[in-house]
Amino acid sequence: MSVTIKLPDGSTKHYDKCVTPLEVAEEISPRLASATLAAEVDGKLVDAAATLTEGEHELKILTHRDQAALEVLRHSTAHVLAHAVRRLYGPKVQYTIGPALMDDFQYGFYYDFDLPEPIGDQDLPKIQQEMKRICGEKTPLLREELPVDKARAEMKDLGQDYKVEMIDDLVSRENVQSVSLYRQGDFVDMCRGPHLPNTGRIKAFKLISTAGAYWRGDEKNKMLTRIYGTAFLDKKQLNEHLARVEEARKRDHRVLGKQLGLFLFSDAVGAGLPLWMPNGTIIRMELEGWLRGELLKRGYKPVITPHIGKLDLYRTSGHYPYYEHGLFPTMPMGEDDSDDDGYLLKPMNCPHHIQIYKAVQHSYRDLPVRLSEFGTVYRFEQSGELSGLTRVRGFTQDDAHIFCTPDQLEAEIESCVDLTICCLETLGLTDYRVRIGLRDPDSAKYTGSPERWDRAEQNIRNVVAKLGMTAAEEQGEAAFYGPKIDFIVKDCIGREWQLGTIQVDYNLPERFDLEYTGSDNASHRPVMVHRAPLGSPERFIGILIEHFAGAFPLWLSPVQISVLPVSEKLSDYARQIVEQLRQAGVRAELDESADKIGAKIRRATIAKVPYMVIVGQKEAQAGTVALRHRTLGDHGEMTLTDLIEGLTEEIRTKGAKAMVALPQAAEQTEEILTTTEDLEKTEPETRN
Ligand SMILES: [Zn+2]
Ligand SMILES: [Zn+2]
Repeated sequence: MSVTIKLPDGSTKHYDKCVTPLEVAEEISPRLASATLAAEVDGKLVDAAATLTEGEHELKILTHRDQAALEVLRHSTAHVLAHAVRRLYGPKVQYTIGPALMDDFQYGFYYDFDLPEPIGDQDLPKIQQEMKRICGEKTPLLREELPVDKARAEMKDLGQDYKVEMIDDLVSRENVQSVSLYRQGDFVDMCRGPHLPNTGRIKAFKLISTAGAYWRGDEKNKMLTRIYGTAFLDKKQLNEHLARVEEARKRDHRVLGKQLGLFLFSDAVGAGLPLWMPNGTIIRMELEGWLRGELLKRGYKPVITPHIGKLDLYRTSGHYPYYEHGLFPTMPMGEDDSDDDGYLLKPMNCPHHIQIYKAVQHSYRDLPVRLSEFGTVYRFEQSGELSGLTRVRGFTQDDAHIFCTPDQLEAEIESCVDLTICCLETLGLTDYRVRIGLRDPDSAKYTGSPERWDRAEQNIRNVVAKLGMTAAEEQGEAAFYGPKIDFIVKDCIGREWQLGTIQVDYNLPERFDLEYTGSDNASHRPVMVHRAPLGSPERFIGILIEHFAGAFPLWLSPVQISVLPVSEKLSDYARQIVEQLRQAGVRAELDESADKIGAKIRRATIAKVPYMVIVGQKEAQAGTVALRHRTLGDHGEMTLTDLIEGLTEEIRTKGAKAMVALPQAAEQTEEILTTTEDLEKTEPETRN
């Protein structure tokens, strides 16, 4: 017997018997052994007590310093949760599944229970206390591989019917002969693992909330109780996470949207159908107006198309039936229109734009043709999926379709990348990554020949390489008609959002039989690019509201300046100022209330109006104003001419030339009230 272990520092160890990662750690230092959470053997995560057999193995011991151990830690914390719930609510508790969540912003794990009595958020402190006790007991988690019938019998004895069902499933689907049970004191769970060596390794966790969840996600099944929590490798990481979640809660665009009068949803209109209020409409108009101007400069032609189209149009495009589950039901026509089998609320603008392209005979000299539209589309998202402006049923795309020759394609993709970056940087969203979405070669949902797909994927890679961008390739992320480049943006609290998209398409031109006449006088097939630099103004603004915590830059602010007279006697002068500001194109409002000046300032500050001018007797006599910035305070006296010049310059340059020098990111961090120290004080439940 010979076991050779290669460690990350390049050193090797030899054994003449089987060893475990924990034994190797013990040999290196007892301190390392006591800090071991799990191990990576030949690139695979395993228990610290896993057996390394005959042969050569690469071994990495994972401790609290290794992010790779987080999943094991979170999943083991879910076991501790189930153990605690079982202790508190007795043997009738049935535990089902409890995975770690690695990509969720808020949660780190959950466990679903079938409970003898209902519980809610108010019960979480008690459960968390019990979990803390279990961690304090440093109970080992011991793996045991059992033949299926023995494991099944044990779970049956414990009254764990869901586990029995899972075992039966594993047998019928994967024909497994044995399963692993993990014993943790008086608690036993069936699980693949891996887990921590003992519960004492869990240093920082928190239960967050309860929710209902159907067994296996199927509403025909029983509703279970889900308990969400999170766990981190150390207390500092947990506190930072909780501060981020709290910050996100304060920035929630659904709350700010209501407070600032930006948008609303009405039951009378329907779920997921946003109504833009005046303040929100101004933000949208500014954003779209700026982008429209940018598109004209870049040679795009604007078009407008209707919100519905014949069902057959979408059969040709392939959206129907491919998208069928995401569509509103079709609108059948009466007998008078017997030619038509119905209409659809449009899920995409492409087929309409294609008709505009087709209406004219094109020569290679006309190409590229770039047709742009802020086109509203409708998709029937499940009600559970709807979320403020970020998941809606009716939304607009800052859409365009470029029809070009194959030779022009890569230059067009390149200019779409440039436009997308221009949009993101103008809005201060400078932290982004780029993803290339490729087809999944094993899936049948993609239209068109493999050759055309290969060509389109290569075009995208060429552009990305030419621009020197780093981009991760992901299979299965393509649109059904072609591969794409996505921009995934990180907001100021570290959440990621997929925004701009550029899609290359050789397939719809084929399906719609598009043509242009080449220099050889023969007919050729153009290529299409679909692209949306913002993605959707609704979603984009939802994200911007959270990114700026409602405090928009001057050019986007619904009210740009509030004019605040200190007394009613000064109303006339104040009104003149408002009038002149408005004439100069500045969105100014007058606060004519009888309130004291302090209250007026507070009101404008809460409404996140960037600037205020305070008008007193002195200013009225001198024909000046006293300027105040929302967060930076008083800025001093100036003439109205200087004020107008300063404001219009800041608006025109989108903040590049600001009237009042704003420290970088001040607008973004000012709302952070919760420090990690505050949290330490209020988090007695988390362990040391
Ligand atoms: Zn497990
Ligand atoms: Zn399209």
